[in-house]
Amino acid sequence: MHILPEPISSLIGVLHKLPGIGPRSAERIALHLVQAESGTVKQLAETILQARERVQLCKVCGSLTESSPCEFCRDGGLICLVERPVDIISIEKAGTFRGKYHVLGGKISPLDGIEPEDLSIADLEKRLTQEPIKEIVIALGTDVEGDATGYYLAKRLARPGLKITRIAHGLPAGAGLEFADEITLGRALEGRRELL
Ligand SMILES: [Zn+2]
Repeated sequence: MHILPEPISSLIGVLHKLPGIGPRSAERIALHLVQAESGTVKQLAETILQARERVQLCKVCGSLTESSPCEFCRDGGLICLVERPVDIISIEKAGTFRGKYHVLGGKISPLDGIEPEDLSIADLEKRLTQEPIKEIVIALGTDVEGDATGYYLAKRLARPGLKITRIAHGLPAGAGLEFADEITLGRALEGRRELL
């Protein structure tokens, strides 16, 4: 027996796939939506569509943006290397970093089949030849893959006149940047140390 009409079950199924929405929340939202005013639901659907259509990845650094190069593609010789676009948002919220960024797109993890060539390392090397970069701050997560990727990059990117640092420890162990509070992340950036 089906307690809920099929369209509601389908909606619950789709909502449940979203991050942070468990089965009970999905059901609550679905039941709310099918009883809400049709105009309100249309507006929600259109806002979601528009956000998806207007937001793209910056072709230079990989951040989430409406225009490329993005507002974080600043002048200067300091570049922060992060794993994902959302890490840029975490660092910007901390408010102490005034350089630019490069999104790596993951971490080297042979067990998961992620090799260096799957990441945007070649793009970064190209930027090193085109932009006056003096320092790369590696701000990957503090897990084993983050450490290994940091050392791999420090070796591969090493060249005269370029300083390669990584953000200080003090971040939650084994976690991504989004789990650090803004003060901790700000301090970790300020207390960065040279690698190798
Ligand atoms: Zn950018």
